[in-house]
Amino acid sequence: MTITAPRAYKRIATEEGWATPEMMKMYVKILETKSINDPGFYSLWGFFGQSQAPRALDLFNRIQDMGERRLADMDAAGIDMQLLLLTSPGVQVFDAPTATALAISTNDQLAATIAKHPTRFAGLAAVAPQAPQAAARELERAVQQLGLKGAVINSHTQGEYLDDEKFWDIFAAAEALDVPIYIHPNTPSPQMIEPFLSRCLDAAIYGFAAETGLHALRLILSGVFDRFPKLKIVLGHLGEGLPYWLYRIDFMHAGIVRSNRSDGVKALKRKPSDYLRENFYYTNSGMAWEPPITYVQKLMGHDRVMYAMDYPYQYVAEEVTAMDNLPLSDEHKKMFFQTNAEMIFKL
Ligand code: MN
Repeated sequence: MTITAPRAYKRIATEEGWATPEMMKMYVKILETKSINDPGFYSLWGFFGQSQAPRALDLFNRIQDMGERRLADMDAAGIDMQLLLLTSPGVQVFDAPTATALAISTNDQLAATIAKHPTRFAGLAAVAPQAPQAAARELERAVQQLGLKGAVINSHTQGEYLDDEKFWDIFAAAEALDVPIYIHPNTPSPQMIEPFLSRCLDAAIYGFAAETGLHALRLILSGVFDRFPKLKIVLGHLGEGLPYWLYRIDFMHAGIVRSNRSDGVKALKRKPSDYLRENFYYTNSGMAWEPPITYVQKLMGHDRVMYAMDYPYQYVAEEVTAMDNLPLSDEHKKMFFQTNAEMIFKL
């Protein structure tokens, strides 16, 4: 299906997955040798074990194709530009030196791909939170020398969350560079995944949102946005469920602060929902559905919600048509598909 109707906006898709053959080979090796202890990783990539399955094989091929096939898929669905994010869990499953080196080589390859098709691709840098200072330096290099537009971090890193101050050099760098960090889902951390597994709820059906929403709330309650007030975080999937919870989070957070229940919860300068409104941006990846899109636009502002497809995982051309038909003014539709992404990622 080719969508050719003239339109007054570019479609920029802002959470589009890619991977290097090098990283995929390393994933296969981990899976075969069972050399890491994260059931989420096996759940997410274990399909390599049955890679004859048509969907697995299709994803495996599409995610690594950075040329003709990807461009043809974009043309067929009417996508003008993809913002590329190294697919989850990226480099975060490896040891620190391996992950740091792999982030550098991956970002170099991404920049080379973008240089070949500068009107079709832009990208976010991979960083290795396992080595926070090196990650901060790599983010600087990726933005200043390679022209990448921010960083992607796939939620927890081997069970650790970015609210731990040992990671905050990364946030200091992002704030200083004035680039966003996209907190992309990962499967629930090893500490929380068990009850998800037997009903296959660990991945995109629900576990991603539980994990990533938790991560975002941990960040807010840690006070990271009081320390770095200009830090910009992007969440996919319309905010991983959090927009629905604002009232109750604010109400209960105030009570927890008053009760002095934990050293882990201190008074913040503002309400939790204020940070979600002013430090966060949202994409509708995987959520091509009018009610929550218009709800998040109403709650967070039309200038904070961007279009995303989540290629190749949710490559559904009909969803693009559905998004074209959202009940939005011409101005708001152009913001959703094009100009918000241009502003936030400086495209
Ligand atoms: Mn995604």
